[in-house]
Amino acid sequence: MDGMYKEAVGEILLYRWKIFRPWEQEMTAVLTTRHGGASKAPGAGLNMGLGDEAVEENRRRVAAALGLPENRWAMCRQVHGLRIRALSGKEEPPFADCDGVIIDEPGWISGVQLADCHPVLLYDPVNHVAAAAHAGWRGTLSEIPRLLTEQMVERGSRPANLYAAAGPGIGQCCYTVGEDVAALFADKFADRGSFLVPAADGAGWQLNLEEINVQSLRAAGVPPGQIGRGGLCTACNLKDFYSHRREHGLTGRYAALMAVHAPN
Ligand SMILES: [Zn+2]
Repeated sequence: MDGMYKEAVGEILLYRWKIFRPWEQEMTAVLTTRHGGASKAPGAGLNMGLGDEAVEENRRRVAAALGLPENRWAMCRQVHGLRIRALSGKEEPPFADCDGVIIDEPGWISGVQLADCHPVLLYDPVNHVAAAAHAGWRGTLSEIPRLLTEQMVERGSRPANLYAAAGPGIGQCCYTVGEDVAALFADKFADRGSFLVPAADGAGWQLNLEEINVQSLRAAGVPPGQIGRGGLCTACNLKDFYSHRREHGLTGRYAALMAVHAPN
């Protein structure tokens, strides 16, 4: 089931993925927006970027809106790499040099910070384990969705039990890349036509990261009917989302957040 739906909790505006709706009572999967935070310019609003002076207050507000503990956050310090951590591992959050996290302990809010880059989320309702990753073009090219899925499988998940979401992030409408990056994708993935189209002005290519991440999840064995898409472009939706590209790098970060709830 593709797409998202909005939920306002006071001043906080959140998006949720339709694909995860059946498990709302046992897990949380949300995308934050600009709305409802205490940050000042340039990332005014609900900036979830790790360096923002208001991030603690913003986290407190988000946790309260979600009905989750305010001080148990386990976020990634992302480096456009491929390392995936687990909450049950030895490291203390926030996790350094980390672009994906396996959420295998209840009660934490975990995930990744984004501004146009794409989130990839997984949930195994049988084992009650979630996972989230950050996929820019490098992570997408290196198939971090597949790596994230494989790590879930190594920890006991069956691919057939997994539900996933890819996106939203910057859409093909707004994401122009040069010939060099386009060639990397065309060389690695066979079906070029489904994710690369020539830019309208003839300069470069329009790249569809969401489509490639969906293909990567399928290649790892997630059933196609269990993969949802964000289905919107963050650069086209500046009212709700920070956009690194549209705002020339001077902006905040929204976050893809997941939590698995403790049994009642
Ligand atoms: Zn767009």
